[in-house]
Amino acid sequence: MTNTAVTQLLKTLDAESVVTDARAMAPYLTEQRGRFGGHPVAAVIRPDTPEAVARAVTACHGAGLAVIPQGGNTGLCGGAAARPDEQAIILSLERLDRIRSVDAEDFSLVAEAGCRLSAVQAAAAAVDRLFPLSYAAEADCQIGGNLATNAGGMNVLRYGNARDLTLGVEVVLADGRIWHGLKRLRKDNSGFDLKDLFIGAEGSLGIITAASLKLFPAIRQRATAIVGLDSVERAIALFSQLRQASGDALSSCELMGRRPLEYALAHDAHCVDPLPAPHAWYLLVEASSSAEDVDLAGRLEQAMAAAAVGDYRIAGDAPTAAAFWRLRNTIPAAQKVAGASIKNDISVPISGMGEFIQRAGEAVIAACPGTRICAFGHLGDGNIHFNLTRPEASDDDEFLARWADLTAVVHDEAVRLGGSFAAEHGIGQLKPAEVQRLKDPVELALMRNLKAALDPADTLNPGKVVPLRDQSA
Ligand SMILES: Cc1cc2nc3c(=O)[nH]c(=O)nc-3n(C[C@H](O)[C@H](O)[C@H](O)COP(=O)(O)OP(=O)(O)OC[C@H]3O[C@@H](n4cnc5c(N)ncnc54)[C@H](O)[C@@H]3O)c2cc1C
Repeated sequence: MTNTAVTQLLKTLDAESVVTDARAMAPYLTEQRGRFGGHPVAAVIRPDTPEAVARAVTACHGAGLAVIPQGGNTGLCGGAAARPDEQAIILSLERLDRIRSVDAEDFSLVAEAGCRLSAVQAAAAAVDRLFPLSYAAEADCQIGGNLATNAGGMNVLRYGNARDLTLGVEVVLADGRIWHGLKRLRKDNSGFDLKDLFIGAEGSLGIITAASLKLFPAIRQRATAIVGLDSVERAIALFSQLRQASGDALSSCELMGRRPLEYALAHDAHCVDPLPAPHAWYLLVEASSSAEDVDLAGRLEQAMAAAAVGDYRIAGDAPTAAAFWRLRNTIPAAQKVAGASIKNDISVPISGMGEFIQRAGEAVIAACPGTRICAFGHLGDGNIHFNLTRPEASDDDEFLARWADLTAVVHDEAVRLGGSFAAEHGIGQLKPAEVQRLKDPVELALMRNLKAALDPADTLNPGKVVPLRDQSA
């Protein structure tokens, strides 16, 4: 990279769009898990129109500068962070933050990429509609980042991932052209569905600058319950029964092992053991409806009775429901206090989850005796965080040095059961080697072909997802 190239790039932008002071750049260089952040970049740029994004990308493309798109920087795989010795700029979408339109009759809205997820939810609520993507980082993450990672969260069971919620996208391509793909159509079979290429591509194929999104009827009532169970198989059977009995109104079905629950209880004084006796597993379920006259709580109650579930509670009011959710949402922070942990984010067909947990647990313990398995997550989506907390006697660094071999053990079990080694958080810098190792060779070749076709100069987020060039060089 030459100073001239950077100077040329910066000339394409106004002063407010450019950050080069080291202290001002620092927050953009950090990364959630502290594994990949801190590497310097030539500049952080913050354009506020798609045209300015396009001018910047064109300049970088011409000068051989890598462009790393960044949304709310809440990603968990280092996708928005620079790599060591990379000649790059960070392109923050934070100033592209307008809701362009909301159409209640169309059940759709158009948001620019830098809109925070909570702002999109609020814009929908203002017209009595629901934008259902929801999870703990919603106040910080941005809709562009959500699409780029095909984010999931707590309502996938009912409404799907970010991909399922997207009608169209506006994208700046690697050569600076803008694709105006902001359709609001539910049906369009007029050719390839190109938007799906950019969703989940983690900024490696194009920069999403806006999206048209699906809205749904606002929710009028919820019923939330927590159930204690002795096996994952029982949890899966109960999930099916509740889904049927609720009239397919289940929007969340979260599984928690006793260990993560105990971490949450120890960490947060406001967390309360939800049931009188401890259980090996807990299921947190929520049903929701846009209708007011459906007795959702009664339906859950009947299904619990029919399934002869011994120990459960249905929240009688919103604070009790919030207390159940607090247990679930406290787990990631609480786990940190117990010592270093190696994170996994796998999916398997729902019916295989019990076998996965059993086999992966045995394989991990054989490879690293004393590892504390901390399994929790979205059972209703077949996706759990099969996290590994270090053995009590071991040291954080010693355990973290085993990240690659212990995650490989877990990934192998997931893939063996027809699952995925990256169900929710994506690839970023964390898993390109696993993409190489575990993807079907034909699929891998197609992914590379697409990257080469859309970004032959490797300008956009190089080295992430499916590296075009040999990273060992
Ligand atoms: C507390 C917490 C809870 C979380 N829970 C969940 C969860 O339940 N489900 C879930 O799916 N994820 C979860 N995540 C992960 C994270 O929030 C998501 O991956 C989120 O979608 C990232 O959005 P972001 O705006 O922060 O993107 P960033 O972190 O800034 O970027 C993520 C990736 O997308 C690329 N990117 C960002 N914006 C654009 C754009 N406009 N165009 C092209 N590429 C872009 C970046 O280059 C990077 O590769 C959680 C994270 C935290 C910290």
